[in-house]
Amino acid sequence: MAGLSNPQMDKIISLCRRRGFIFQSSEIYGGLNACYDYGPLGVELKRNIKNFWWKWMVERRSDIVGLDAAILMASRVWEASGHVSGFTDPLVDCKVCKHRFRSDLIAEPGKCPDCGGELTDIRQFNLMFKTFMGPLEDSASVVYLRPETAQGIYVNYQNVLDSTRQKIPFGIGQIGKAFRNEITPENFIFRTREFEQMEMQFFVKPGTDQEWFEYWKADRQEYYRRLGIRAEKMRFHPHGKDELAHYAAAAFDIEYEFPFGWKELEGIHNRTDFDLTRHKEFSGKDLTYFDEVTRERYMPYIIETSAGADRTVLCVLSDAYEEQKLEKDERTVLHFHPAIAPIKAGIFPLVKKDGMPEVAHRIEEKLRRHFPVFYDESAAVGRRYRRQDEIGTPYCITVDTETLQNETVTVRERDSMTQSRVKIDDLFLLIYNKINEGF
Ligand code: ATP
Repeated sequence: MAGLSNPQMDKIISLCRRRGFIFQSSEIYGGLNACYDYGPLGVELKRNIKNFWWKWMVERRSDIVGLDAAILMASRVWEASGHVSGFTDPLVDCKVCKHRFRSDLIAEPGKCPDCGGELTDIRQFNLMFKTFMGPLEDSASVVYLRPETAQGIYVNYQNVLDSTRQKIPFGIGQIGKAFRNEITPENFIFRTREFEQMEMQFFVKPGTDQEWFEYWKADRQEYYRRLGIRAEKMRFHPHGKDELAHYAAAAFDIEYEFPFGWKELEGIHNRTDFDLTRHKEFSGKDLTYFDEVTRERYMPYIIETSAGADRTVLCVLSDAYEEQKLEKDERTVLHFHPAIAPIKAGIFPLVKKDGMPEVAHRIEEKLRRHFPVFYDESAAVGRRYRRQDEIGTPYCITVDTETLQNETVTVRERDSMTQSRVKIDDLFLLIYNKINEGF
């Protein structure tokens, strides 16, 4: 797998593989570079992250609605957006070792970072994956795999306005796959060629755009705080004029300190009226907005918040991972927020007799109706705790002799490792409240 040079990353990658979070794609065929599959725990983690985002950005608010647009879109969309002509990265090759790089990411221009050899001149390389729709492979049937989910929102902006009661200011949120033929995929799932984005486009009246840009900067910082990411591992980087994309009047990166350094997790952009104006020109459809109260007509400005779902998975894994030395022991623990933990509770009978497994299974069945839990009766309870710590399970519930007398169980909390006695009937609410803490 990529990114093996960093010891902390090695540990995270190894845990991910060992416990079924993330596997290399097509592994039995030698693996497909920079493509990854989410295993049984990984799919839960990623889905929980996407649900957390959806809940925060869409469900919590009456001024944002959701969308799920197709990955394949008319090619004209990508001409209008500027991706066909301009979505390129500068590519260079080393004349000696033949390795390939993005020239803007090289520390010493003209010199190969791997062997010091001379580099070729820069060529512009388009990052969009191209394919053909239908049986003919000619230029008229070219379609692209979308390199961002945003355009699916822009081309549906009028449909959403016509089919809902939304009025400006309002937003459209979407989570979906995006594809970029990256020159140098890197660092495990940080930069891959197939990934998922969680994007929200907020349509505002020109003149109020800077105010909304500030609003979304603050709101998105709050979101990461609620997700439980350590504040000292996050920083915020406003783009200088020279760093701005062609469509943006202002941009702001939310960065996280990954084991391999500070890197972008999310971008917040003031995209002005660039996108809708271009789609108006290319489609011939009038995409201006008429404000019935002020009787004004204008082209809305757009504030975008664009986060990577896979990058967030790597962020929460890096942030949650800890190797702890205990008095007599050590443990690896993932301190996930209960909302995103793949398994919410481990359920153990203290011993495999005296009716304890039956009670534990009864609790398992009851809780499983609401969230994923894991029944485990093998090995000593200490070992069972360690297995759950390593995958970030926030609670372990043990059925013991006292349970048989008074219907209470021992609940052990992952981070503090403290134990308390809880009535079986109160378990659901205890865990439910923790999962929903932060909203
Ligand atoms: P970078 O500078 O890292 O290439 P970008 O500025 O091109 O990223 P955007 O186009 O703003 O990224 O995309 C928004 C978000 O989508 C990024 O903040 C990131 O979380 C995610 N993302 C972009 N490219 C990739 C990729 N190749 N793999 C995984 N996630 C990605």
